[in-house]
Amino acid sequence: MKFADLHLHTFFSDGTFSPEELTGHGARLGFAAMALTDHDSVEGCARMTVACEAAGIEFIPGTELTAELGDTELHLLGYFLDTHNEKLLTEISKFQIVRQNRIHEMVAAINKLGVPLTAETVFALANCKSPGRPHVARSLVKAGLVANLDEAFERFLKKGRPAWVPKAKMSALEGMELIHQAGGLAVMAHPGLNRTDEIIPALVDAGMDGIECFHTKHSTATSERYLQIAEKYNLLVTGGSDCHGFSKNKPLIGTVKLPYEYVEKMKEIRIARINTNSKIVNS
Ligand code: AMP
Ligand code: ZN
Ligand code: FE
Ligand code: FE
Repeated sequence: MKFADLHLHTFFSDGTFSPEELTGHGARLGFAAMALTDHDSVEGCARMTVACEAAGIEFIPGTELTAELGDTELHLLGYFLDTHNEKLLTEISKFQIVRQNRIHEMVAAINKLGVPLTAETVFALANCKSPGRPHVARSLVKAGLVANLDEAFERFLKKGRPAWVPKAKMSALEGMELIHQAGGLAVMAHPGLNRTDEIIPALVDAGMDGIECFHTKHSTATSERYLQIAEKYNLLVTGGSDCHGFSKNKPLIGTVKLPYEYVEKMKEIRIARINTNSKIVNS
C-alpha cells in the first residue's frame, strides 16, 4: 500500500525542520509522495525537490494561503504549483510583508503588558520571509518569558488575547485564481478545524478542486463527514499531518497516511485541466 502526506511545513514558514530533515522523516516512514505547504511561501520547494528525488519520494510543490470569504477565514492549499510563476511569487511576497509587519504589532502588544520581547529576537529565530505566531511563541519560550508554547498562545497570541493581531488576507476567490493560474489545484485545508461548512458551496461554484478530508485534528467522524461532502460536490480528497516539526511540541508526520489513490486522482484532474487549457489556447 502506498501513502502520501500532503500537508507539511518546514522552517521556510513556521515549521522547524529543514526540507532535508522533513524528507528524511518521510523516507523513514515509507511515504511514496509528499507535498510541502509552507504558509505563504514556495521557497522550500526547490530543496524538497532535490531531497525527495534522492530519497525516491514523489514531490508535489505546494503552499498554504490564508484567505477569507466574507468574514470567514479559511486556509487554501495549492498543489502542483509552478513555483516560478511570477504572479504567484509577487502575490505571496505581499503577504509575507503583511506577516513581517504583524510581528512588530504583536511584539508591541506584548511589550505593553510589560514583557520585554524584541522583534529582532523573533526575526532572528524565524529566519524566514513568512514569520507567524509560532515564531513569537518560540521566542517567548527561548527568552524565558513564558514556560511553554501553550502559555504563549493562552496568555498572548490566541484569537481574543491581547497580542492577537488580525492578518490581512487575500480573498478566497483571488487565492483560488492565483493557484489556478500557476497551474495548481486549490483545496480547502482542515475544514473540521474552521467549522465553516456553509461557505463550501460558494467555493465549489468558484472552482475549488478539493477538500482536505484527512487531517491530524480530524476525528474519524469528521473525516467521514468531509468525504461525504467531497462526494456530493465531486471534489478531490486530500489529507496530511500538518506537521510543523517541533513548533507544536512534537512532529506530526506519520499521523496521517493518505492512500496514494487520492494522489492519482489529483494528477488525473490536473492533466485533464492542462489539456483543456491548451485546447482553449490553441483554438
Ligand atoms: P499565524 O499564521 O501567524 O496566524 O499562525 C498560525 C499558526 O499558529 C498555525 O500553524 C497554527 O496551528 C498555530 N497555532 C494557532 N493557535 C495555536 C495554539 N493555541 N497553540 C499552538 N499553535 C497554535
Ligand atoms: Zn503553520
Ligand atoms: Fe492551516
Ligand atoms: Fe498548515
